[in-house]
Amino acid sequence: MKSRITVELASRVKSLPPYLFATIDRMKQDAKAKGVDLIDLSIGDPDIPTPTHIVDAMKTAVGKPEHHRYPSYEGMFSFREAVAAWYQRRFQVSLDAGNEVLSLIGSKEGIGHIPLAFVEPGDVVLVPSPGYPVYPVGTLFAGGESYFMPLVEQNSFLPDLGAIPQDVLKRARLMYINYPNNPTSACAPKAFYEEVIELAGKHNIIVCHDAAYSEIYFDNDKPVSFLELDGAKDVGIEMHSLSKTYNMTGWRIGFAVGHKDVIAGLGKIKSNLDSGVFQAIQEASITALETDDRVLAGIRNTYQERRDVLYEGLKGLGMHVIKPKATFYLWTKVPQGFDSASFVTHLLEKAGVLGTPGNGFGAPGEGYIRFALTVPVARMKEAVERIGKAL
Ligand SMILES: *Cc1c(COP(=O)(O)O)cnc(C)c1O
Repeated sequence: MKSRITVELASRVKSLPPYLFATIDRMKQDAKAKGVDLIDLSIGDPDIPTPTHIVDAMKTAVGKPEHHRYPSYEGMFSFREAVAAWYQRRFQVSLDAGNEVLSLIGSKEGIGHIPLAFVEPGDVVLVPSPGYPVYPVGTLFAGGESYFMPLVEQNSFLPDLGAIPQDVLKRARLMYINYPNNPTSACAPKAFYEEVIELAGKHNIIVCHDAAYSEIYFDNDKPVSFLELDGAKDVGIEMHSLSKTYNMTGWRIGFAVGHKDVIAGLGKIKSNLDSGVFQAIQEASITALETDDRVLAGIRNTYQERRDVLYEGLKGLGMHVIKPKATFYLWTKVPQGFDSASFVTHLLEKAGVLGTPGNGFGAPGEGYIRFALTVPVARMKEAVERIGKAL
């Protein structure tokens, strides 16, 4: 007799928080089914295509048979050298391509996997909140416990390191930080990184700085790298992505750099779970990393124009908006009488504009909404007009 098995999810999957974008996707589908001309400001995915010279490099690379075989998990040496050269040029930080650089299948992959290398069941991971959902999920999958560090406006959306209890610090193995920050758009001053380095050294905590937005900055005000600071390489690593910098979210490539033992530990996980990044993508990414800064300035200008339209527009409507110095997000307080969820619903129903509820990134995000700058200026102007009518 054949019987049907019962499929039971593992407890780590059952205890996952609801996927932030699942509800939003449903709302989006409903609106589209009703024929709403939706202006979607909820997605953190560039609408601008990958620059042509990178696509052309890929077309050439994909034809080379040597790239059709398994890549190495740590990345081609030539790719790692290109990363080291980019770091030198952009941040004046020297890296050894041999043991301080690791390729990633997008930085999400590295962020999600790093706790598996260093976190024991019951260990604490320090996680910013609101924040990128992968930090607590990677922690959960490793059996660790997230301690959420609130990012609030009064503290410029920097965690108050002095407020973390001593017993939490004793159990902490890993700390995620992320500047320029998603979703708040805040940047961190060097003094904050100094505090982080001191705390990490004192309590033996590995620092993982997520720098996915380091190249999406405005007014020529360049964010610094965590690794520019004295002692940073002794306590942690930095993760970067080609996704946001070069409009390559679909290509899946990023990298981790810094402390060689941390890089080696993460590499150990990767060598057992994945087989690296398609070499043709790595070769095209070398071209990407060598991109003339004028091309990137063009991309930044596009976002800056949109930022100005949305920031000035919403401010003109009397909304409390934080002016981003970097990232492609606007973090905005919802008006009196609303919470994050009710304001998102209100804007969708009355304006056909979709934002992301701030509380979806963690409880301290309640009372905020995140707008992404991923639609053209004309649509952005229309969004402001429609929001004005809906208020
Ligand atoms: C987009 C994003 C990433 C990375 O994305 P990948 O495409 O996986 O490199 C990492 N961190 C934050 C905060 C992001 O918003």
